[in-house]
Amino acid sequence: MSSPLSDDCQSSDNTHHERLYRTDGDLVLSAPNKHGGRTFYRVHKFMLSDHSSVFRDMFSLPPAAEGSIDMYDGVPVVHLTDPAGDITDLLQTLYDPSQIIFDRFDPFAPLKLEGLLKLATKYDFQRLRRSIIEHFVPAWPATLREWDYLEENMNAWTVDDSPDTDSKTLDDVFPEPGAAIHLARLCDIPQVLPAAFYNLSRLSQKYDWSHYHAHCFDSRYDSLYWGQRTARWALLCSEDYRCLLMGKERMDEFVLSLSPKTFGVGMGCRDDATKSKCSGRAQKLLDKMGKECKQSRDVLATMLKYERTTQEGVFKLCYFCRCNFAANMPKQRDRLWEMIPEMFKVPSLQAEH
Ligand SMILES: [Zn+2]
Repeated sequence: MSSPLSDDCQSSDNTHHERLYRTDGDLVLSAPNKHGGRTFYRVHKFMLSDHSSVFRDMFSLPPAAEGSIDMYDGVPVVHLTDPAGDITDLLQTLYDPSQIIFDRFDPFAPLKLEGLLKLATKYDFQRLRRSIIEHFVPAWPATLREWDYLEENMNAWTVDDSPDTDSKTLDDVFPEPGAAIHLARLCDIPQVLPAAFYNLSRLSQKYDWSHYHAHCFDSRYDSLYWGQRTARWALLCSEDYRCLLMGKERMDEFVLSLSPKTFGVGMGCRDDATKSKCSGRAQKLLDKMGKECKQSRDVLATMLKYERTTQEGVFKLCYFCRCNFAANMPKQRDRLWEMIPEMFKVPSLQAEH
């Protein structure tokens, strides 16, 4: 907060907010607008002090000496340095909490929420911050079951050719990891980072949101209709790239560490000859799976595919090995899911150490 010169109030670009200058308000807030002037809001003190500990503390200070309080239109004025657009979002949400409702899958949601969440955090609007985060966080699965459910939805969406999906791409209807990671770092929402980083690790940097979404008639845009996903790579910081590289390396190590023994192959074969055959075939199967993981960049999806294929008995393992293999694949996927925060070294885990 600052105490700008009273001349600021005289600028021709100064304006009263159309809806948020309430005649019965007992406090004026002003904030710099994009036209170079200031926007003035006339609001109610009790609303700010009820929601925000920072404003509550400010209003509880002993009254300043007469004549030293900045006044505007007959009431005290507080000049803020935050952008007027963000202050508008904040005040609108406080006066009408239904404004918080947003599509949590909207790939633009993190960008739309950024200003509001920054203010909610800075001025300690705890209930508001909690409401926004509680609504935003479920877009990024916390469990493998939720992740698989979202992936199934995405896969189903790709093959859906109903008319109302014709004009939309996967990028238009499912969350985008770059903006989510940016917001999570900025406003301390670490719980979305594991799923967002895993999601990002599947994408190549050549698929950049700004390039692919710039021109609808560009041939690059066509590939989005074929299911290509992109990310807002420019929103990531150097720490994010470090986490991403680390996670990818750890993921490769995880796949390499899988052996027939990991899946209980060779434990119940009827004789040594069968055991030898089963182990050899299982190793080939894992080698093949490893190559596919590298190609697809999606270890969880590839493992799920092999879990289902093995259940169908395509790979010639004995009955016991086939059962063990199929039973252990979900366990290994669970293990991988649990390891993801550590693999990507996301802040929530570092903070715990
Ligand atoms: Zn066997």
